[in-house]
Amino acid sequence: MINPVSKNYIYSYTNTDYNKKPQQQSKANKVFDLNNLPSYKYQISFGKNKEEEIKKYLKRRKKRLTAQNISYKDINQYDINKLEGIQKGIYVFDGLSMEQIKYLALHSTEFVLQRGCHNMCAHCYANAMPPSHQKASDKINKIDFEDFEKLYCGFKELNKRLGFNIFKSSKNEYNTLFHDADSSMIFLRDNNGKTYDYLTLAKMINEITQKSVLFDTAGWNTKDKKTQERMEELVQKAISSNDYDFVEFNLSANPFQSLNNRALQHLKSGNYEKYEKFRDLYTTRMAKVLFTLTPLIEKEKLNIISRTLPNETKDAKGYREDDLLELYNEIFTKLRKLYKQDYETGIRKVIKNEEQIQKNLDYLNKKTEDVATNMGINGRLKNLVTDKKIQAYKKTQARTYKDPQKAAKTFYEGIIDINGKLYITNWYENYLTDIQLNYKNKDKKTAEISPALNKQIVTTDMIKD
Ligand code: SF4
Repeated sequence: MINPVSKNYIYSYTNTDYNKKPQQQSKANKVFDLNNLPSYKYQISFGKNKEEEIKKYLKRRKKRLTAQNISYKDINQYDINKLEGIQKGIYVFDGLSMEQIKYLALHSTEFVLQRGCHNMCAHCYANAMPPSHQKASDKINKIDFEDFEKLYCGFKELNKRLGFNIFKSSKNEYNTLFHDADSSMIFLRDNNGKTYDYLTLAKMINEITQKSVLFDTAGWNTKDKKTQERMEELVQKAISSNDYDFVEFNLSANPFQSLNNRALQHLKSGNYEKYEKFRDLYTTRMAKVLFTLTPLIEKEKLNIISRTLPNETKDAKGYREDDLLELYNEIFTKLRKLYKQDYETGIRKVIKNEEQIQKNLDYLNKKTEDVATNMGINGRLKNLVTDKKIQAYKKTQARTYKDPQKAAKTFYEGIIDINGKLYITNWYENYLTDIQLNYKNKDKKTAEISPALNKQIVTTDMIKD
């Protein structure tokens, strides 16, 4: 029986009581209540005269825009210089102009909480390395919860001062909490040792941006008890209320995950025994992962990301479209067995009636129909794909400009790293900008943001209208 998810934590701050420490509630009624978070606990002062001046400007502008039938909730409709100072006193924006804050908000696709991934997929466009490779005495691989909280509170306060949501005008449709990490591994702990699960952290981001938040996983080690329990709790939490309907769950199932990739490399070198061993490890893991995620099917909240190489790719046995169908077949056969076991032994953890078995498998089969073959060939995949024709074709698709001026004006997606630095991207090419949030860890190094990080930096001069 899966435990109902504990809503664990409460902040006891009121909006005016910024200096008190959070109090632990009795175990029975511990609640993480987002409504009780301070509107901005790090607030210093807005500055009275400036506040009046900006408030008047916002009021005038709102009136004029409304009269012209234009939404006043669009930051692009305002003279950003006239809003300069509205950010005063908000710790996380210390040192940034409103022009820079606006640029960061409009380019904030990924709010990165963790760097590094154990899945080591061969096709990983971010070229993710295991988290342990990303950490050193001067290098971090996880955001400090306090920094994340400051980001959340900072934007919440800014939106309040503006009277509208600054993220509304960004062109990106969703947010993620990762760049090169698997969502199943993401959670944070604050200084008091309290744990914040993915859904809670996603809720904080959704509250400030009002966008969907993705939960992408390529599976996890189901023998790792802590992760398995965390995922079971997360799934129960997601289906038990509508509070997290803004989260989109995606399972990435493909031939490139490191276990299956190893299997295929053994097949290539003729070691059939090892091929079978690693293939079984991967397909068994994925069947168990799907079993764990099954309750999401009832709410139609689970999608499958199917990516592979086109059938015509030479020297790529195991990685092509037809091979993917075979892989799914093996995984679903094992999943069917798990479903049957669950039902027939009377445990009925996820299968409550016999019809549900076929219904779930049909749902999952349908979700695998849309196979994407338009992957970029970079990072580890470059070593796997030797077909020159496919490589050349993929190269023509890659949009790399090596022109920071052009990128500054045309790229609209961005990555806020765990040290507060902003990168902009078109997912083929990245640029570091000179914009950085005032995080406690702003001087710490992090792993390189792949793919194709340019040496040139996008400066604030380049972003000016
Ligand atoms: S799970 Fe995602 S982040 Fe991790 S290696 Fe695979 S593609 Fe990269």
